[in-house]
Amino acid sequence: MPEAVHGLGVSPGRAAGPAYRMAGPPVLPPAGPVADPARESALAAQALRDVAEHLERHAARASNPQAREILEAQSLIAADPALLESAEEGIAAGLGAAHALDAACARHREALLAAGGYFADRAGDLDDIRNRAVAAVLGLPMPGVPDPGHPYILIADDLAPADTAGLDPATVLALVTEKGGPTSHTAILARTLGLPAVVACRDAAGIDDGTLLGVDGNTGYVEVGIAEDVAAAIRLEAAARRERRAAGHGPGRTADGHPVALLLNIGSAHDLRAPEDAEGVGLFRTEFLFLDRRDAPSFEEQVAAYTAVLRALPGRRVVIRTLDAGSDKPLPFLRLPGEANPALGVRGLRTSRVRPEILDTQLDALAEAARGSDAETWVMAPMVSTVAEAAAFARRARERGLRHVGAMVEVPAAALHARRLLEVVDFLSIGTNDLGQYAFAADRQHGELADLLDPWQPGLLQLIAMCAEAGREASKPVGVCGEAAADPLLATVLAGLGVRSLSMAAPAVPDVRDALARRSLAECEAGARRALAAEGPAEARAAAGDAAG
Ligand code: PEP
Ligand code: MG
Repeated sequence: MPEAVHGLGVSPGRAAGPAYRMAGPPVLPPAGPVADPARESALAAQALRDVAEHLERHAARASNPQAREILEAQSLIAADPALLESAEEGIAAGLGAAHALDAACARHREALLAAGGYFADRAGDLDDIRNRAVAAVLGLPMPGVPDPGHPYILIADDLAPADTAGLDPATVLALVTEKGGPTSHTAILARTLGLPAVVACRDAAGIDDGTLLGVDGNTGYVEVGIAEDVAAAIRLEAAARRERRAAGHGPGRTADGHPVALLLNIGSAHDLRAPEDAEGVGLFRTEFLFLDRRDAPSFEEQVAAYTAVLRALPGRRVVIRTLDAGSDKPLPFLRLPGEANPALGVRGLRTSRVRPEILDTQLDALAEAARGSDAETWVMAPMVSTVAEAAAFARRARERGLRHVGAMVEVPAAALHARRLLEVVDFLSIGTNDLGQYAFAADRQHGELADLLDPWQPGLLQLIAMCAEAGREASKPVGVCGEAAADPLLATVLAGLGVRSLSMAAPAVPDVRDALARRSLAECEAGARRALAAEGPAEARAAAGDAAG
């Protein structure tokens, strides 16, 4: 066993404690002859009913609304008559209940994978339902999180929503999974619960129950078999962090008072749980309103959704991004033809080339909602590649009376032309998730390429520096709204590069606020210079840490 194993840090913070592994999925017995198909059908139906009820009970108990939604959706899948019908077909073809359920879930899973994007991300839900239903038929205990009776670090192959939703942050100190990526359930829910998490950590498979671990959700390092005094030091640090998180309030500032706005990434008004504490919204991903739709939402529906967010934040900045569809966010109603390389195809602002009326209606609705609220409404387009695209977008938005119009920098060409973009728009917002993907030609969903997608890559930092410099020259704001903004140490580097706002999921704000408050602007700038000059992401991270003292 190596002394440290490495994955992708997806939820910040450090934790120490003994490892415990989640029980594996039930193993199917060899297929045998079926004496009584009617009995097998009844068994399969009962198993799916049990699973649906179990998930529904879990959903009712879940304190986290996001977890509740996921569990409710899973419960509906388990109760879907099509799944039972599919299992009954297997039984009619000679399978026993357990094998028939296994085959039915596999078929539904394949269908989701074939649909791609967000649907493919939901394929894991079918695995979870399969494991639970097969365990129910075989009379095995339902797979789930262990309960050793004391706090521990949960190790798993991957975590299904049903597992993560039931997690008690007082008992589970951190999560380490062998699979998963930055957008997996594990990552999303760990960030929501404020638990440190490392995913795509393949070597975690070799960790034995009871081994003392030190987990770093920022760097993705998991130290295996640490000494008790090392664990005690990490626990002290984690307790201090919890206290600082609870104590910190107010706007983002460096130690010497230089303002760096801390804004929120949201998908709807539901994500604004404590709007009174927020400085504003830096990224409202409006595509969530368009998901799972056969037709685009109407003008009125859109006005209502945008108004709900704007009214919650009177006097504050709300940056609304127009529809970002295509590639990993396929939207069926757009009826775009299939593409060989969707990530390089008609996505983001480019969808307005083929369906201009959708952008027009959205801008009309945004202008109408802005007129009905006191929030400072900023509007920006995703996936802008050229100055001409930015200028055309700005014209369309300003014609409708929208006054703060910006472009996202997600394509290297846009970063290279940041100065010229700022001649036609009022602000830039850097989407580091896509900018990393396109700068390094590495699919952002590709777990094997996590090192190239590391936001500490000096090449990515260089592109961000160019945008920040252009903003300084033009005296126009440049912010970051990709995941890079949620990494506390990287946030200090971004501030040092000249970025004026950082936008992130709400649970990330306290750590970022704290990291900024502990460094002067000059220290942030020194960290930024060292990170830019570093050879690779690990060196950049280390150099920024040293510079910050
Ligand atoms: C990004 O690409 O960094 C970004 C914020 O947009 P999204 O993650 O929604 O593509
Ligand atoms: Mg993006």
